[in-house]
Formats: sequence, structure tokens, C-alpha cells
Amino acid sequence: MTAATDALDRLTAVVPDFPTPGILFRDLTPVFADAAALRAVIDELIAPFAGSFDVIAGVEARGFVLAAAAAVLADTGVVMIRKAGKLPRPTVSRHYSLEYGTATLELHSDELPPGARVLLVDDVLATGGTLEASLGLLDDAGLVAAGVSVVLELTELNGRPRIGGVPFATLQQV
Ligand code: AMP
Repeated sequence: MTAATDALDRLTAVVPDFPTPGILFRDLTPVFADAAALRAVIDELIAPFAGSFDVIAGVEARGFVLAAAAAVLADTGVVMIRKAGKLPRPTVSRHYSLEYGTATLELHSDELPPGARVLLVDDVLATGGTLEASLGLLDDAGLVAAGVSVVLELTELNGRPRIGGVPFATLQQV
């Protein structure tokens, strides 16, 4: 057990039937609220990818917290992958399916130089649709996916194949 997995075991709030009946929601906000836990999680989130990325991308909204903290620690910049209609300048855009309905994610198309190596971070890998769409955005913007790092992987939803061949790391599988 690492410092991060110990903190996740102690602090992750498991909430039944949120946001819809039948979903067991893994709420990491108590982990974010604890200084030592946040630091341990961020350390371990980026450690497997040390030296392999130029910038960190976070997916709205919990991914923003992780990405910003990780970028400061890694001494890189951060970019935001946002829900449709939030970014003011030209974007690349990907439409994708959720368990119920569809969604669109966007990224400013000119934020980074072509070929920049991006580490993509998020809190939870569930079906993988969100991270698959996010990887598509990096591709559309001419960027290179250095890796995908998540805090929790929900293994029974089998999202991992949707990451493809991009290097993947998770702190904890549940
Ligand atoms: P995905 O199905 O992998 O596209 O997940 C969609 C988004 O919903 C991810 O960014 C997760 O943060 C979040 N999510 C999905 N399922 C859960 C869950 N059981 N607990 C917490 N967050 C979840």
C-alpha cells in the first residue's frame, strides 16, 4: 500500500445512486480537501510519466484540480479540456456517447505547439468514453499523447481498451 492508496481507502466517499439510480459514485472531493492526501495522489499520478511530457491536460471538472496541482509540481503548463461552449477561441471538438445520452468536449486548437507531449489526467476511468474523446482532441490539435493517468479505474466497466496503445497508469482499481 502506498501513501496515495492508503489516503484513497480512508477518504474516498462511496455514494450509492448518484447521480442516477444504480450508479455507485466514487467521490474524491474529501481526498482533494486533505493536504497530505492530495500531495500523495498528485505525486503518484505523475511519477510513472516523469520526463515524458511537456504539459498536462485535465478534463472538466475534477480533472482540472488534478491537472493544475500536477502541473505546478512537474513545472509544466496546464490545458483544459472543456464541455462544449465554454472556450472563447477556435477549438477542436469531439462528440461522444455517455451511459445515458451524449456529450461534446472541446480544446483550444492553438494553445500548444504541434507535437507537444501531453499527459492527460482525470479522476475516474469508467466506460472510457471521456478519455477516448479527450485523446481524439489531442490528435485533432496535432499534439502527442504521452500518457493517461487516472486516480481510480472502475475495472468492471472495461474502459481501458478505449485508451488504445497510449501508456496508462492508475493509482487504484476498484
Ligand atoms: P467515462 O464513462 O469513463 O466516460 O466517465 C465519465 C466521467 O464520469 C469520468 O470523467 C468520471 O470522472 C465520471 N464517472 C463515471 N462513473 C463514475 C463513478 N462511478 N464515480 C465517480 N465518477 C464517475
